[in-house]
Amino acid sequence: MKIREINAMRGPNYWSVRRHKLIVMVLDLEAMEDYPSNKIPGFGDRLKEMFPSMYSHRCSKGCKGGFFMRVDEGTWMGHVIEHIALEIQTMAGMDTGFGRTRGYGEEGVYNVVFSYMEESVGRYAAKAAVAICEALISAKDYDLDPDLQRMRELREAERLGPSTGSIIEEAESRGIPWIRLNKYSLCQLGYGANQKRIQATVTSETSSIGVELACDKEDTKYLLEQAEVAVPRGDIISRESSLESSCNYVGYPLVIKPIDGNHGRGITVDINNYEDALEAFHAAKEVSRRIIVERYITGEDHRLLVINNVMVAAAKRTPAHVIGDGKSTIEELIFEVNKDPRRGYGHEKELTVITINDLTKTIIADAGYKVDSVLPDGEKLILKDTANLSTGGTAEDITDRVHPANVSMVERISKIIDLDICGVDIMTSDISQPLSETGGAVLEVNAGPGFRMHLAPTTGLPRNVAAPVVDKLFPQKSNAGRIPIVAITGTNGKTTTSRLISHIAKMSGYRVGYTTSDGVYIQNRLLMTGDCTGPTSAEFVLKDPTVNFAVLECARGGLLRAGLGFSNCDIGIVTNVSADHLGLKGINTIEQLARVKGVIPETVLPEGYAILNADDDLVYDMRKGITSNLALFSMDENNPRIRALQRKGGITAVYENGYVTLCRGTWKMRIMKAENIPLTYGGKAKFMIQNILPAVITANVKGISIEDMKAALETFVPSASQTPGRLNLFKFEKFQILLDYAHNPAGMRALKKFTDEIDSNLKVGIVAGIGDRREEDNNEIGAVAAEMFDEIIIRQDKHLRGKTEEELIKMLKDGILKKFPDKKITVIPSEDEAIRYAVKNAGEGTLIVLCSDVVPDALNLVKELKEQEAKGELI
Ligand code: ATP
Ligand code: ATP
Ligand code: MG
Ligand code: MG
Repeated sequence: MKIREINAMRGPNYWSVRRHKLIVMVLDLEAMEDYPSNKIPGFGDRLKEMFPSMYSHRCSKGCKGGFFMRVDEGTWMGHVIEHIALEIQTMAGMDTGFGRTRGYGEEGVYNVVFSYMEESVGRYAAKAAVAICEALISAKDYDLDPDLQRMRELREAERLGPSTGSIIEEAESRGIPWIRLNKYSLCQLGYGANQKRIQATVTSETSSIGVELACDKEDTKYLLEQAEVAVPRGDIISRESSLESSCNYVGYPLVIKPIDGNHGRGITVDINNYEDALEAFHAAKEVSRRIIVERYITGEDHRLLVINNVMVAAAKRTPAHVIGDGKSTIEELIFEVNKDPRRGYGHEKELTVITINDLTKTIIADAGYKVDSVLPDGEKLILKDTANLSTGGTAEDITDRVHPANVSMVERISKIIDLDICGVDIMTSDISQPLSETGGAVLEVNAGPGFRMHLAPTTGLPRNVAAPVVDKLFPQKSNAGRIPIVAITGTNGKTTTSRLISHIAKMSGYRVGYTTSDGVYIQNRLLMTGDCTGPTSAEFVLKDPTVNFAVLECARGGLLRAGLGFSNCDIGIVTNVSADHLGLKGINTIEQLARVKGVIPETVLPEGYAILNADDDLVYDMRKGITSNLALFSMDENNPRIRALQRKGGITAVYENGYVTLCRGTWKMRIMKAENIPLTYGGKAKFMIQNILPAVITANVKGISIEDMKAALETFVPSASQTPGRLNLFKFEKFQILLDYAHNPAGMRALKKFTDEIDSNLKVGIVAGIGDRREEDNNEIGAVAAEMFDEIIIRQDKHLRGKTEEELIKMLKDGILKKFPDKKITVIPSEDEAIRYAVKNAGEGTLIVLCSDVVPDALNLVKELKEQEAKGELI
């Protein structure tokens, strides 16, 4: 078996609009195509032995054991591999279970599709599943454990930490979109101008002064002391000579610690005499120059969490520890503790296993033991310096037990230190009593406190502490964090429609970011060039904090490679579907192509609009999958589909009596006469009207006035700057050059309708074959060209995309000659030379039509010719 490619979907995709995280592996079964599971002796038994838990896979049977039944009856290896990939992820602690295996369109080749939780793990699972299946086929031993451990490690490296993860999950549950901004925990919630950011539990609204204060123990203590908050009485010294008087002033028992330490480094607690103090002083000196000597507070560690100045949770924390039994070694005791089924690797379960690292060894040595020493009965040995859950500590939720005086104290502290998310560490023997009664004190204030101990305490009630964070960042209830997103797909007219809608939105005051197959624009600035119709470009716009209106051209390529770059849009437009790109990426029929493009309307939010072309059956059909409102456009106001929607009061746009007209129900609002819209070239370019119709619906739905629409339509002129390469007509003294990007049969036919309307003595076409299209499509391009032009120049220098020059030229020629066997054809491979040749031979009134796929080059050449003409140098 051979893996051809592995792609990871990250957004709505061809396989599922709802399930975004899918691995799509193209797998060639090779010889195994002839060996379904029931034809391989012992295969089913070996599979069941290796994965008894697969019994729970229902598969198409819909009952437990269903998948095993399929294996016994006989199923192909692609399907088995899909189930193995799911099962090993589940075994590695990532429970996931969506899968599909379908033919790729070639004998023995399959798309194996399965869900993942972390992309790197999913990709790993794909490869591992193939290897495991091969071992099962050939009855070889296979040790699963190294795979499972590797997958756990990959998960820990990739997945968001529990605090960040909880906020993201809460945001998602409210429909707030998000984007991860780096490999770590920096995330954006919401889009464009309406985004907020978080980095673990620090937000874009966290005061930087607050963070700085919290990180400085001296300043924090000073401010708290000034505000009559109980803190341990203390002193700061840097020389040994001051130690004795300092100890006497603070009073024993005391704590000595470095001033800017963390993770408990250099801290000695419960010091009762000067001798010990001296030793502790030197230990602390190793970490920092200045040393805190402070009163030792007895009691237990508590963490009180304050969000938006309200205490939302509190936990009592105990660092990882063991208790001696007088028989077992420390190592054995740790092993015993780790047997607790609640303990897992990293953040997989509610508790983390205790590891014996260098720090633990130092702590054990400091206590006068080794890992193989037997710990006396009843002795408690702390193994880590902090009570963090991630180092094996435990936490008990005590939110409801905190005394109101302590609650108001910590809420006040959050304002004194000025932190929107604030963790206050308190040492006290009883948190249900005011600190004044217990002699407890505030030890520290933390910015960016961890949430895990509150989300998943070892004992007590779990608290949704992410909710108040999201409440604070997005107080508005509906559309929180969103900006309007208009997504456009179809075979032809995407770029033109995207540009037109962007122009209308800009004219009515929005700050628009838009993607096209020519590049990404933020307002009027082109910031990226190239084909920018995939998810990365969409994210580029949605990340841009200056953008408050997004228009995204979404092409088939990106959708098949990784899915859409957003989960939902407000408006989804499908211009048309016709044969193009067939035979690529396992999409072989026009119906499959329509299903790819149909993803867009299905992602429209319920209150949004799917805008569909009523003149195109495949597009009209897409209405069945939508959960939003439907709007339709048509070149024929009597189209029964239009009439039906109008009767229901829906929104439609039609071309009627020469007008571009918007209808709400049966009421007509005539926007403009088509011939007065520059984009239509005096009404001659009918296909441009088709692009204008969905644009006016979009504008109307977004509340843009008819006056603003008119003003925008009047100022959107087909030209090298506003619609580069789309119907750019250049008038020379003797002849005209029309530059257009038509590159498939439907595009050519649309263009023909326009060129037919142009007066000319002779029409010369410069055309090229397209390498990644099927032979029949190239023949068809040739055939349409044959009907359009009196003479044809075939050029073929750029973008061969997998075919040879000769092959492409032949495909076009075949198409042309089949229609008109004696059509004049000249082959000039270089586009540059082809144009110059056409210009040189152009007689009075010739129309040269250049179908170019490298628009900037062609535009430059035309500019050059214009300059030559101005200087009288053009022959
Ligand atoms: P971390 O990075 O884990 O917050 P740190 O280096 O900032 O640690 P502190 O938070 O000041 O150090 O102290 C660590 C632990 O030492 C506290 O949780 C507490 O258990 C103990 N401790 C510190 N100061 C005192 C004190 N005055 N009285 C009693 N225990 C103390
Ligand atoms: P691509 O898939 O290459 O990005 P696109 O869908 O973005 O193409 P445009 O760039 O807007 O389409 O137009 C490309 C060409 O298709 C135009 O130059 C024109 O010849 C033709 N075309 C544009 N709009 C339509 C339409 N509504 N129907 C048919 N053909 C069209
Ligand atoms: Mg601390
Ligand atoms: Mg385009």
